[in-house]
Amino acid sequence: MKLNTTHINTALTGKARAKVLIIYTGGTFGMMRNEAGTLAPFNFSSIVEHLPTLRNLALELTVISFDKPIDSSNIQPAHWQVMVDIIEQHYHAFDGFVVLHGTDTMAFSASALSFMLQGLAKPVIFTGAQLPISEPRSDARENLITALEIAAAVEAGNPIVPEVAIFFDFELLRGNRSKKVESMQFDAFDSGNYPALATAGVKIEYNKSVMRAAGPSLKVIKSFDTQVAVLKLYPGLNFSILRSLLATPGLRALIIETYGSGNAPTETWLLDALKEAIAQGLLILNISQCSGGKVNQGKYETSKALAEMGVLGGADMTLEAALTKLMILLGNYSIEEVRTMITQPLAGELSV
Ligand code: ASP
Repeated sequence: MKLNTTHINTALTGKARAKVLIIYTGGTFGMMRNEAGTLAPFNFSSIVEHLPTLRNLALELTVISFDKPIDSSNIQPAHWQVMVDIIEQHYHAFDGFVVLHGTDTMAFSASALSFMLQGLAKPVIFTGAQLPISEPRSDARENLITALEIAAAVEAGNPIVPEVAIFFDFELLRGNRSKKVESMQFDAFDSGNYPALATAGVKIEYNKSVMRAAGPSLKVIKSFDTQVAVLKLYPGLNFSILRSLLATPGLRALIIETYGSGNAPTETWLLDALKEAIAQGLLILNISQCSGGKVNQGKYETSKALAEMGVLGGADMTLEAALTKLMILLGNYSIEEVRTMITQPLAGELSV
């Protein structure tokens, strides 16, 4: 993929206090209304014109932009590999990283990067906006300025947030615990099963007791296996739909998005089909449709059979974390190893 690099020294006088690399992938954030009245991506090198207050941050910024910024609905694992390549290549030269990304799939990308960047010791902060930076009431300015502050924040010489996180609407959330929950209001993200890592008011208050510890040294994982399907349970699901999904050639794992604490209908056609698929080697993972709480197979009669047949319980993982983690594990480990690793925390994505 073609990438464009721009250097911006926002320090007015004297030395910049930190170096931050911005990866600009696209999304609503960087849209500008053109003469025809339609929204199109803006040229990132003009960011200081839109945001003169950047100068007060005294940071040295380098921006690497996707040549063609994309709506995040078009994000694919290949884009995650590009983002990780950029971070790996520039890891030692920068104090922190900010990824500007559309909100639609931001939680998937932040989850994926949290698993790909093993041993991370520096901040990788995703942000974006609900309204383009060209709009007077845009949230883009506040989101970017605070994300940059967080990416540059140090205490006793060490980064305060050594993990992949999403900063949006005054809250910093762990990336692999987040979900997009809102498309009209500014509070687009939530992490129902994990406290906020920081809250930005007059001061940025960091919740250090829930932060991940810095990793020893960066080790990146870049391979994926995308032969994973998701089946959301709903009243009316029938056998022919399930059968055609399970007959997908090469399918290696299935996430069933169950009700409540991991419950599913007890109908024989469903249980028999899942049992047979497991016997043929399919990994089946149980993730709840609820954004708070966790899967507890065996609590109700309606989940006992799943546990007995070998469906794995996904605890309190989000769908976004479970899906990206499965793709990465399947691309790098044997199926036996994946069965063990999927239920263990890899990057703070689940509580045991
Ligand atoms: N569709 C846009 C995207 O995800 C929405 C946004 O950026 O907020 O790229």
